[in-house]
Amino acid sequence: MRWELADKALHSDFRQRVEELSGQNLGDCYQCGKCTAGCPVLADIELSPNRIIRMIQLGLEEDVLTNESVWCCTACGTCNGRCPMGIDIVHILDTVRLLSQQSKYRPGALEVLTFYQAFLNCIRHFGRLNEIGLMGSYNINSGRLLTNMVKAPWFFMKGKISLSPHKIRRIERLERVFARIEEIEGK
Ligand code: SF4
Ligand code: SF4
Repeated sequence: MRWELADKALHSDFRQRVEELSGQNLGDCYQCGKCTAGCPVLADIELSPNRIIRMIQLGLEEDVLTNESVWCCTACGTCNGRCPMGIDIVHILDTVRLLSQQSKYRPGALEVLTFYQAFLNCIRHFGRLNEIGLMGSYNINSGRLLTNMVKAPWFFMKGKISLSPHKIRRIERLERVFARIEEIEGK
């Protein structure tokens, strides 16, 4: 896809915010494309990792924060391992996802964000994944009430999911971890 800069609103402070939060210097990126060449989700995304970085350098805030490509990253770290400049691209994409949730723009992949939040809520409340909690939270918040419901009876019969979730011991320690992360993220 071609991006016409003439039609775009450029926000010079966007690059600065990403750099501050991620601790990375985006000026180090010289667009060699090595990160993109090893990305396992490249075939499924519109914006490659090096392209996202270039767009942040240019200040294309809305285009980056509303694109669903940033939500498709699996955080596998291949790009980090390949970058000749040692740029932490995974951290940059984490930062973009954080800013996307805090911004006035609508995140590009609401379904992914809903799943992401349902997963984290589960971990926060039980200290481990609880399938019923995850399914319930995701189905209600995404509006897709029947997603995976066809498979639920089979999972019950096989004892793969339980109606009585177990919490890990000393869950309050985990709560402190979440509280600290929220403090760092400025929530
Ligand atoms: S961490 Fe994300 S952007 Fe980097 S190679 Fe893996 S999937 Fe691609
Ligand atoms: S590998 Fe590093 S220097 Fe090369 S395009 Fe990706 S981020 Fe930029």
